[in-house]
Amino acid sequence: MPDYDLVIRNGRIVDGTAAPGRAGDLAVRGDRIAAVGSVPGRGAREIDAQGSAVAPGFIDVHTHDDAAVVRDPRVDFKIMQGVTTDVLGNCGAGVAPASDAFRTYYRTGMGPILGESDLPWSTTAEYFAAVEAAHPACNAVAYVPHGVLRYVVMGMEKRAPTDAELRRMCDLLDEGMRAGAIGMSTGLVYVPGAYARTDELVELAKVAARYGGIYGSHIRNESGGLLEAVEEAISIGERAGCGVQLSHHKSAGVFGLTERSLPLIARARERGVDVTIDVYPYTASSSSLAAMFRLGREQAFEAAPAIIASVKYNKERYEGKYVSEIAADLGLPIGDAIRKILEEEENTPSVIMFIMDEADVRRVVADDHCMAGSDGLPSEGKPHPRLYGTMPAILQKYVRDEPLLTLEEAVRKMTSLAAAKHRIKDRGVLREGWYADIVVFDPETVADAATYQEPRQYPRGIEYVVVNGQVAAERGRQTAARAGCMLRRGQ
Ligand SMILES: [Zn+2]
Repeated sequence: MPDYDLVIRNGRIVDGTAAPGRAGDLAVRGDRIAAVGSVPGRGAREIDAQGSAVAPGFIDVHTHDDAAVVRDPRVDFKIMQGVTTDVLGNCGAGVAPASDAFRTYYRTGMGPILGESDLPWSTTAEYFAAVEAAHPACNAVAYVPHGVLRYVVMGMEKRAPTDAELRRMCDLLDEGMRAGAIGMSTGLVYVPGAYARTDELVELAKVAARYGGIYGSHIRNESGGLLEAVEEAISIGERAGCGVQLSHHKSAGVFGLTERSLPLIARARERGVDVTIDVYPYTASSSSLAAMFRLGREQAFEAAPAIIASVKYNKERYEGKYVSEIAADLGLPIGDAIRKILEEEENTPSVIMFIMDEADVRRVVADDHCMAGSDGLPSEGKPHPRLYGTMPAILQKYVRDEPLLTLEEAVRKMTSLAAAKHRIKDRGVLREGWYADIVVFDPETVADAATYQEPRQYPRGIEYVVVNGQVAAERGRQTAARAGCMLRRGQ
């Protein structure tokens, strides 16, 4: 009789707390870590991790996999990069709660970004049950998305809610919090979320706060108005009494503003507001072309290179092509070319825009309270490589090639820091009795293989991925295991 189900031998244990890595073994029984350190007994399966790091499974705090975990529950693009828990419902966008009107809107509104779904649920609790029934390969937790609440209650009304409408949104959020959501997210550059004023968001955030939930935000402005937008998000947390997560923190289009935004955040922390941030390790963003064009008009596209990532119809003609190339081929100014693409493709395209400065990215990555969030869009076509490569890219770039973080510190950001903030219990640290979400990788070879032209490439150097005690990937291959759970807040 073996003593354990799985023993990982002779690895360098990087436990997620930022404690110095140390040589050791790790044993798993059922879905839990049974021992860490020196393991005398035998495992039914033994893995030799000599020369490799053994770390808690990575937590991707910023995903748009809400529909993907049901539609494509293998979520290979996550498992293969060592992600064992996805945070869903970001940027105010998502798939629940759903009404008939929202189901219709979703097809052209959020669907092109999140991927197709019939949304065969109504409440957040029913959606969580559907995720569970789909048996995704990775775990998930979720925000209740404000853009969905607002659409369900008010449609595309560009005004403040009436008292009754606000009460209805609060009730829907309350239902989501009782179902186990981790808080509420907003996307304040996207409609209909952008129509909300601060007071509406404070009232809603108070509902999340009652349950110990957090306020996650794609803030109102990530460009010239970055500092004011950061202040608004902090004030919402402060007034509502909840923690704040600033999504994909960046200084876009204008460079260097993170020099001032990070101290602003640090001062809020000193006042006792629990503000943290996340980042993806690339200088290009990706979003809906229609939304970005609405925000930046042609100037934004004239100022920086942009690539069409995915379209509905003319894939050969547009996907993977620079907007400037397309405009030249068409003999049109950039703005007119974009209008033509949007019209032909029914506003569904997603775009990649090179609008950040590496110095800002490095400054944000290095911040003590910054986590890893891919912001990957599980769309068709040629999605931003962050979908496949975010976690390995951090380890490759910022730990090995252009050192900014120790391995231990990078792993802490991707695990325990993320778990504590997102109300994910007993995960994110390799500790006896905690869940067996584990990644084994080679710090010398780990690398992001995805590129803008060929984004669907699994990373190198991720050797084993274990989710709830089951081996989900080994030596570059995904297994049949689909051991992920829909995690309820604090459960
Ligand atoms: Zn966003």
